[in-house]
Amino acid sequence: MSPLTAQTRVFVILGDPVEHSLSPVIQNAAFQEAGVDGAYVALHCDADRMVGFMLGLGGAGGGGNVTLPHKEKAASVLDKPSEAVRRTGACNTFWGEDGKLCGDNTDVEGFGRALRNFLGGSPAGYRVLMLGAGGAARAALLSLVDAQAEDVLLLNRTVERARAVARRIGGDRVRVAESRSDVDAGDFDLVVNTTRLGLGSDDELPLDLERLSRAGAVIDLVYGPGQTPFVTAAKRLGIPAVDGGEMLVHQGAVSFERWWGEPAPIDAMRRALEAALSGHSRA
Ligand code: NAP
Repeated sequence: MSPLTAQTRVFVILGDPVEHSLSPVIQNAAFQEAGVDGAYVALHCDADRMVGFMLGLGGAGGGGNVTLPHKEKAASVLDKPSEAVRRTGACNTFWGEDGKLCGDNTDVEGFGRALRNFLGGSPAGYRVLMLGAGGAARAALLSLVDAQAEDVLLLNRTVERARAVARRIGGDRVRVAESRSDVDAGDFDLVVNTTRLGLGSDDELPLDLERLSRAGAVIDLVYGPGQTPFVTAAKRLGIPAVDGGEMLVHQGAVSFERWWGEPAPIDAMRRALEAALSGHSRA
């Protein structure tokens, strides 16, 4: 790391808990590779303290990321929310600019970039099954709707939450499944897992892919050391599949671009994530 100076810009990730976050590893690797004068640390804080950190750091020329459970609260304190923040109601990236606190939800573009790389093109015209209806689902759904996916069917344990996500992101191409049996024998170009299932080693799979008549490809937003169980299950059926590591790197790259106004050194970020994950074991 280059020496810290009085000009060093300070960036943080704010969350509760936040100790597990790999963003400090990824961003400090990016800062070093790009030769920018910044330092990035994790701060465990409650919602009230988070607001103080955002205002203080933004005002001092720094910024950062926000993670669970503070993304909605962060969206509410911005002077200049991006369109992605306004449409998802969540902010994961903030910075100060001309005395104003600016914010974006880079999960939207991060998902979009990771998906395009994986598919080798746009999901325009795709029929999609999305599992889950939390914060990550809102970001992924917005990306898919804006990329002109033909149809997105939402399946979530709590159906009302899926309805709320569909209402929020809107569009006549988003539908809600009432139960798992609604997706039986379904034919999908893409299945997106945005549930937490797969984070724990005892978790069940988010869906038995054999219930579908076809799944063209699978993207799992869960990531960890090695392949996630859902990715393993998909590949066993011959379905191309990728985990959430690439999305993590790309959402971080978009944050870097907002803070520094230059392209992010994506390969260095990917290498830093791989090195960090190789030192972990799945929970
Ligand atoms: P969240 O808002 O807490 O939502 C959790 C989702 O998981 C909800 O749909 C919830 O269903 C579902 N779920 C939880 N436990 C379940 C169970 N036992 N059975 C069935 N469904 C269950 O979390 P989030 O922020 O959306 O994050 C979700 C996942 O995406 C996490 O694994 C996170 O690490 C990952 N993520 C990855 C990236 C990335 O860059 N790769 C970015 C953001 C998030 P209910 O509504 O019924 O509770």
